[in-house]
Amino acid sequence: MDLTSLPAAPPFALRARLLTPLDAGGSRHEPDGLLVVDAAGRLTFAGAAAERPAEADTALDLRPWVVLPGLVDLHAHLPQLPNAGLGAGLDLLTWLERYIFPLERGFDEAEATRLAPLAWQAFAAAGTTTALVYGAVYEASLEATFRAAEAHGIRAIVGKVMMDRITYDATIDPATILDRTLREAADLIDRWHGRDDGRLQYAVTPRFAVSCTSDLLRESAALARSTGAYWQTHLSEDRGEIEEVARLFPEASDYVDVYDRAGGLGERAVLAHAVHLSDRELARLVETGTRVAHCPASNLFLASGVMPLARYLEAGLTVGLGSDVAAGPDLSIFTAMRVGAYAKNALGVAGYGTGHMMTPLDWLRMGTLGGATALGLADRIGSLEAGKEADVIAVDPSFVAPIPGVTDDDPVDLVSRLVYRTHPDMVRAAWVRGRRLEGPAARG
Ligand SMILES: [Zn+2]
Repeated sequence: MDLTSLPAAPPFALRARLLTPLDAGGSRHEPDGLLVVDAAGRLTFAGAAAERPAEADTALDLRPWVVLPGLVDLHAHLPQLPNAGLGAGLDLLTWLERYIFPLERGFDEAEATRLAPLAWQAFAAAGTTTALVYGAVYEASLEATFRAAEAHGIRAIVGKVMMDRITYDATIDPATILDRTLREAADLIDRWHGRDDGRLQYAVTPRFAVSCTSDLLRESAALARSTGAYWQTHLSEDRGEIEEVARLFPEASDYVDVYDRAGGLGERAVLAHAVHLSDRELARLVETGTRVAHCPASNLFLASGVMPLARYLEAGLTVGLGSDVAAGPDLSIFTAMRVGAYAKNALGVAGYGTGHMMTPLDWLRMGTLGGATALGLADRIGSLEAGKEADVIAVDPSFVAPIPGVTDDDPVDLVSRLVYRTHPDMVRAAWVRGRRLEGPAARG
């Protein structure tokens, strides 16, 4: 395939192998499929080429590539990307001090202007077309990060990290930090939340309970509620962190209760990790419709723990996948699927499994439609179905063949190779609303 012939903007039609989860459940696999994208970047057809022979004849033929819905990353830290893969063997709080806070402290407007465009390209290269992301603590840095997302074309939900208990921004008077961080977040919401017909959105982002007072947690949740922005933070990642939260918030009955008392729980809240939940905490998250970003590669990298995914799914929790770069070493959501599957197997082997099986197609669903559902965007994205926006990736399966020429006709086998033999260059193209993103195939 000549990459320069790939469409840069809608309208267009692609003929390819097609595989997607479906809103109604199950999935659709068309060995000879057709995607038709209208001028507004919406899918008007996603199905068998034989049903639309005239359009199939003139469509750009990508076969044997496969088109999939773009991946959804529910948790990543954009300023941390340069340190991805560093600091193995440290606990969470030590790792933050040594590898993360210095990087975030230096992520000012100039650094964001330089790095954010490259970071968005890296997300797209991994196949991620929607990302829920933490920025740095500086308003101007977030402006630059949003500007880069606007120009790049990725679907991005970004938030300025808020901290008023411990912070790396020495320029702010501690007495004014709460008012200032709330005002800056409100300014950013004014300018960016809902921009480009909702492609860019804002997430109010208190870092986590350890670095935030109950005032900041409460006020940030109120800001998210009053503006319709998302609210994201970390929950129950590491045993040391949980003990520290219990010490700092003696009035709360447990970690979830800290956020509950702040008014943070609900369908617009995405909490990362949630590794060590009690039955009460799990039930409360389900009851409030709160979303969880499962970040298995990060949880094993930092030895935080293994999230009991099967128990959570059986309880009815809405779960999507997160890379959690840089605690997760890899931006690829296929890597999150693979490590999540290994972690789930390890729990089972150790006697903690519940027998709940997940096939490769179930993991693909969690990394696409599951993430879209967690964000309340399943009516727009997450699957390749007529009426949705054309957030699409094209993958060349030859990159994951164990021996050249080995192919997989069965869709479960195909996704199994993509998950268990992920190659950094296998995503050859990515589109959001039919607009092609820079990043994939940049290395040849
Ligand atoms: Zn994180």
